[in-house]
Amino acid sequence: MFLKQITVGLYQTNCYVAGCQETKKGVVIDPGDEAQNLKEAIKKSGLKIEYIILTHGHVDHIGAVSLIKEFTGAEVLIHKDDSKMLKNPEENLSVHTHIPNIKLGADRFLEDGDVFDIGKLKCKVIHTPGHTPGSISLDIDGKLFTGDTLFAGSIGRTDFPGGSFKNIVKSIKEKLYSYPDNTKVYPGHGPCTSIKEEKTSNPFIRRD
Ligand SMILES: [Zn+2]
Ligand SMILES: [Zn+2]
Repeated sequence: MFLKQITVGLYQTNCYVAGCQETKKGVVIDPGDEAQNLKEAIKKSGLKIEYIILTHGHVDHIGAVSLIKEFTGAEVLIHKDDSKMLKNPEENLSVHTHIPNIKLGADRFLEDGDVFDIGKLKCKVIHTPGHTPGSISLDIDGKLFTGDTLFAGSIGRTDFPGGSFKNIVKSIKEKLYSYPDNTKVYPGHGPCTSIKEEKTSNPFIRRD
């Protein structure tokens, strides 16, 4: 599997270019900003980008979607419960930033358990609400992309509109922690981690 992490923008969002090395089909996860850098990484990867997958609808994860869609012709996918946020600069928080008016549409809406192919790789959608109602994590070939749900040693904020601390804890405990200990975790911000590392040391999720 090809995987390249590019950290972009004011909020240091991790954008990922991932794909199947055999078929050269790929995806971009959370193109948040710095479209030019992302375009160069895509070009260098040699992948034909089929999907732009958004882990949720916040500005720091969607800021470069239009430009990357224009560049790749890829379909934009998001969970249906965050689709409204894409169109609404108040809800996607872009009103508070230097890219003030993000109004986007998606090409397809995702639901928990959806599975699609990226060449010979399988991508499974895991609905992990809490940071936002439509936050998702992705299982691509056994690697977890957790957006703003689970970070190394931390969890996503739940004080934005639609956030729920109870739900984010439930999502992490019941869905993400059910993955094997050695599963690698690629978060929306900060360094990579593993399920084992978080199970043993994440101070926000109590083990009982
Ligand atoms: Zn967020
Ligand atoms: Zn974020």
